[in-house]
Amino acid sequence: MNLKGIHALVVGMKKSGVASAALLAREGAMVRATDLKPLDQLPGVRELNIPFALQTPEVFQAAELIVLSPDVPADLAPIQEARRRGVPVIGEIELAADYLKGRTIGITGSNGKTTTTSLIGHMLRESGVTVQVGGNIGLPVTAMIDTSREDGWNVLELSSFQLETIATFRAHFALALNVTQNHLDRHHTFENYAAAKGRLFATQRAGDTAVLNADDAVCAAYAARTAATPQWFSSRRNVEPGGALCGDQLILDGQLLMHSGEIPIRGRHNVENVLAASIAAARAGVSHARIAAAVRTFRAVEHRLEFVRSLSGVEFYNDSKATSVDATLKALDAFPGGLWVILGGKDKGLEYTGLRDSLAAKAHAVLLIGAAAPKIADQLQGAVPLVPAKTIEAAIAYAYAHAVPGDTVLLAPACASFDQFQSYEHRGQVFKQIVNQLQAKD
Ligand code: ADP
Repeated sequence: MNLKGIHALVVGMKKSGVASAALLAREGAMVRATDLKPLDQLPGVRELNIPFALQTPEVFQAAELIVLSPDVPADLAPIQEARRRGVPVIGEIELAADYLKGRTIGITGSNGKTTTTSLIGHMLRESGVTVQVGGNIGLPVTAMIDTSREDGWNVLELSSFQLETIATFRAHFALALNVTQNHLDRHHTFENYAAAKGRLFATQRAGDTAVLNADDAVCAAYAARTAATPQWFSSRRNVEPGGALCGDQLILDGQLLMHSGEIPIRGRHNVENVLAASIAAARAGVSHARIAAAVRTFRAVEHRLEFVRSLSGVEFYNDSKATSVDATLKALDAFPGGLWVILGGKDKGLEYTGLRDSLAAKAHAVLLIGAAAPKIADQLQGAVPLVPAKTIEAAIAYAYAHAVPGDTVLLAPACASFDQFQSYEHRGQVFKQIVNQLQAKD
């Protein structure tokens, strides 16, 4: 795309908007920026030295190109109107695509994106392959252009928001981990949400690779909408070509890759992430032996079933990213039993009754914290002993005092964090800090 002299408007000025505006300016476009927030609440925008205006319908009028940040709904009225005028409306990923050197691996899915993206980065890096990781995690794609190399790989975590507007962005390898109900506030229907993720496969070309979850009907259906060659993964049955969990063996392209017990991150969902990542790494030329070695040295991404420490025989895990009932169920599923589970925070309108059976089978008790505690108590009553701990400090202290060697204290709260913390990251950090200060029992 020739950007010289073009009147471009960047909408939404967080990290990705700032990176887009910088690229547009560098390529000679006449860039303006807009956001619903005022300039002083937008780090990095003033430094760009480009005109900024608060978001009103008028701001969109002179634009010849509109670049949307992932936070901005693509169906806002002035954006629809600009489209009708024939103005191209693209996202940051699309803008970057023309400039990014080397080959690209795109990872999407409702859950497991960050883990799988990090895993692929780790596998390639450990094998001496030139690789950079970004997108929805870490660096925005436009900020990865200067460091991209013809002989290197760009491993990109991609959300449905980043994908819904793509037209020419191409992932040489594209992965779909799973598609479950999510973000319906933005996409309105499950079909729209699934279609947004499906754009990643629709823009692939013949000779590319699509790595798809054979056990997920939505993912499997992407095979019919791509020119790429499908590769399959399954944690339930043997599938080919690709990778599968058979008993406790991970089989990749018909050969034993490793045993599931060797995977340092817990749970069947992480076996799926490992299978998907292994297929991508294998197609990028990494040997089975190197893939398996990289899996063995992979550490959980922070706040995702992250092992914190073992003290007096009690293990502590931080899954602060488990902000939904579904994610908490996955976490419970990853342990055989002996759990002290910290639940609660800001309620997102979810039903907690879905946790009853798992908790009854695996937990000694639930420690309740935060604003959602009364609602959760109401819905779990009778299934498992409940301790009204109120704060994370009190929850950890109670659980550790009552735990016996072999038990696990698990933070997997099934709620957002904003009642007591700034973010799920902050909640996880506080958990780890307190856990790391605990003293051994005599
Ligand atoms: P994302 O980036 O898509 O949010 P993460 O890797 O950060 O995914 O994982 C978020 C949470 O989703 C984890 O704490 C875990 O509970 C759950 N999860 C991870 N991988 C999977 C998977 N393959 N299937 C289902 N749930 C998963």
